[in-house]
Amino acid sequence: MTGPVLRVSRSHFPVTALGPGTRLGIWLQGCPLACPGCMSLDTWDPAGGHAVPVDELAARWRDAARRGATGLTVSGGEPLTQPEPLVALLDAVHRSRGETPIEPDILMFTGYSPEELDDRQREAASYADVLITGRYEAARPTRLAWRGSANQRMVVQSDLGRRRYAPYLDLEPERPALQVMADGDGVWIVGVPLRGTLPRLERELRHHGLDPEAVTWRPVRQYRATRKGSGREDGETP
Ligand code: SF4
Repeated sequence: MTGPVLRVSRSHFPVTALGPGTRLGIWLQGCPLACPGCMSLDTWDPAGGHAVPVDELAARWRDAARRGATGLTVSGGEPLTQPEPLVALLDAVHRSRGETPIEPDILMFTGYSPEELDDRQREAASYADVLITGRYEAARPTRLAWRGSANQRMVVQSDLGRRRYAPYLDLEPERPALQVMADGDGVWIVGVPLRGTLPRLERELRHHGLDPEAVTWRPVRQYRATRKGSGREDGETP
């Protein structure tokens, strides 16, 4: 492989549950922050996922833009553990502005707060029109759009971000949007579920005779123990 490479968990299009409009979603692999109750334990291992050249991801973006994408959502994992190749990708997305009928925005989820970022991470974060920042804190549930816990902040960084995200800053949807998407690696839930939604989903699946091999919000060993009938529902998720 030549050129910068990102470690990627997955990407999906069209994503409508993480940001306004219709979006390309890219989930980067690797997170050192280990928030208790994280719903994406599968993204923690920095050696997991797939190595994908930035050129290929930029091509996925251009293809999504041609098909009507209004923005890019970058999540994880922790995107800012890979700041240099992330800058290369976001720069390519920025340069594509003007080629699409609707100016695309960039929404980035990071578990860091802005004060924690080093220079390289700050540069990568500066490409985002909007950041959702801060660790997931399971004990502080919220209904605010696209935030998993009440401490997380929506930080608007551009005029485009101000125009497009103003309706969402204080929005508390009655039922947050969730999508179910499938690829060769499994079935994925896209969006920020309310606290208790994921354990309920597991119960419903089992009630209907579906037995998922593993879920991303529980360590595999704990998941097996729970399935054997302890009835515990720890590992409660946002
Ligand atoms: S919630 Fe986000 S920041 Fe926290 S451990 Fe999970 S992926 Fe990392």
